[in-house]
Amino acid sequence: MRTVLISGAGIAGPALAYWLKAADFEPTLVERAPALRQGGYVIDFWGLGYDLAERMGLLGEINRAGYHMREMRIVDRAGQSVAGFGAEIFSELTAGRYVTLQRSDLSRLLFERTRGQVESIFDDTIAALDEQTNCVRVQFERGRGRQFDLVIGADGLHSRTRALVFGPQSRFEKHLGYDVAAFEARGYRPRDEDIYLMYGRPGRMLGRFTLRDDRTLFLFVFLSTREELPATTDARKAFLADLYRHDGWECCQILAALEQAESLYFDSVSQIRMQHWSRGRIALVGDAAFCVSLLAGQGSALAMISAYVLAGELASAHGQYQLAFRRYETLLRSYIKAKQRGAERFAGAFAPKTEFGLRFRNLVVKAFALPGLARLVIGRDIVDSIQIPQYGLPSISRGTIV
Ligand SMILES: Cc1cc2nc3c(=O)[nH]c(=O)nc-3n(C[C@H](O)[C@H](O)[C@H](O)COP(=O)(O)OP(=O)(O)OC[C@H]3O[C@@H](n4cnc5c(N)ncnc54)[C@H](O)[C@@H]3O)c2cc1C
Repeated sequence: MRTVLISGAGIAGPALAYWLKAADFEPTLVERAPALRQGGYVIDFWGLGYDLAERMGLLGEINRAGYHMREMRIVDRAGQSVAGFGAEIFSELTAGRYVTLQRSDLSRLLFERTRGQVESIFDDTIAALDEQTNCVRVQFERGRGRQFDLVIGADGLHSRTRALVFGPQSRFEKHLGYDVAAFEARGYRPRDEDIYLMYGRPGRMLGRFTLRDDRTLFLFVFLSTREELPATTDARKAFLADLYRHDGWECCQILAALEQAESLYFDSVSQIRMQHWSRGRIALVGDAAFCVSLLAGQGSALAMISAYVLAGELASAHGQYQLAFRRYETLLRSYIKAKQRGAERFAGAFAPKTEFGLRFRNLVVKAFALPGLARLVIGRDIVDSIQIPQYGLPSISRGTIV
């Protein structure tokens, strides 16, 4: 029981490859994209995910690549601050172990940690899976067919592994009623270093975050209006332009920048809720198994935690993979469920549907200025309520296992 095919080199995939390699398995990563994705949105990163990154020796690089936010500011149509709070509260609650970084940077750093030690195949994907008594036969879309002892789907919200083994996404997807888009622009003005600016209208928000190298990231979250998302980048740009063109603040300027953007992230805000995360020799990790959505604010950390627990349980089970898969689920299921419920509750506060809701949300955020209130409200969600086993997996140095 040594060879493991991992589908997806996002966050969960490389993290799992790392810990499996540390436990003396032979992982292989297959990634559909021709190269690791660059740019995209930023994530807040703390807690157990941060602790695991430290164990992987990545803290220095993560903090260099990341940003330490000073302020979250809600602005009105004239750009005036109407509510907000100092982001030092996050730092205080996590003893300084909190960073905002591009998802693509975290993915790259995790992947680089396995470079040269884990076989990685880009520009390919699993086409078919055929489970036998002693292995899984894998047919790739491009490469030749191969056999692996186990197959793990780390291929995100729209996991193909899940679709092949468990059935269509519609059976497991809970749409939270919003869609999301993000893009990056160069040379945008104004710049507000380490401040997250947010502008809201009923049913939609637009966020701006200043990045290094004269880049700016924009995030749109808006109420879903139809079943199907527009299919092409041009149609998506046109959709966003229609939705935001009459809004105040910098919306027109941001839409002009969007027109020039080469790539645009666009997806539904959804969760994945499954009865089981494994079947036979095939299991799922990260968003593929239990996407909590951006509204939980911790999906990357959960992807890393699930990868670590799965690798640890496989290492401890000495070949009894069914036992490992069962224990992996038992350890994490209720923790994940609580995160999913929290995200569902938070949806209305992120982009309130009515003018009244918007005003009320702003009043609540304003009240964060009251001593202790922000600590109370944010503290409840920021502290990890789970302890994960140690497993005693060694760290891998860049080259050999130590
Ligand atoms: C706008 C936004 C903001 C977010 N903010 C935060 C935040 O603040 N904090 C936080 O912790 N999390 C945040 N998240 C969530 C976080 O990004 C995800 O939970 C996390 O990326 C999940 O990691 P993953 O590896 O499971 O999936 P992904 O990161 O989606 O990676 C999946 C990988 O699989 C590849 N793939 C897909 N299909 C196939 C296939 N058929 N074959 C092979 N490879 C395939 C993809 O190319 C990708 O590389 C946010 C998400 C969004 C959308």
